[in-house]
Amino acid sequence: MTYDSENIFAKILQGEIPNKTIYENEHVLAFEDINPQAPVHILIIPKGPYADMVDFSTNASEEEQAAFTKSISEVVKIAQLESTGFRAIANTGTDGLQEVPHYHLHILGGRPLGPMVNL
Ligand code: AMP
Repeated sequence: MTYDSENIFAKILQGEIPNKTIYENEHVLAFEDINPQAPVHILIIPKGPYADMVDFSTNASEEEQAAFTKSISEVVKIAQLESTGFRAIANTGTDGLQEVPHYHLHILGGRPLGPMVNL
């Protein structure tokens, strides 16, 4: 997938669209999903222009990848999901029904989340 610099998360990163920030570091922004599917629904995104998980894991620097991985535990702590658990989802491509073409990891929690996939 090629990167579309007009996507909504690029606009959030450029400050053109507001967000409810949960956590931020040099390489990562985490914010509340605008249409939450659970009591806790946070999106973690890299600040670099990566279209999806494969683009990120192929082309992001080791520093960016390390910062992204580290941010997961920071977000989980801030959202107080350590004891109850959570689900992390990265929708990718057509079958994954990815809507926003900037890599993002959904962190969902705050209630039992049911089966992993509803078909
Ligand atoms: P996906 O289907 O995995 O691409 O998920 C895209 C997610 O982005 C959805 O859960 C949307 O609710 C969320 N979303 C779209 N626009 C915004 C926005 N402006 N702020 C926060 N979340 C958003």
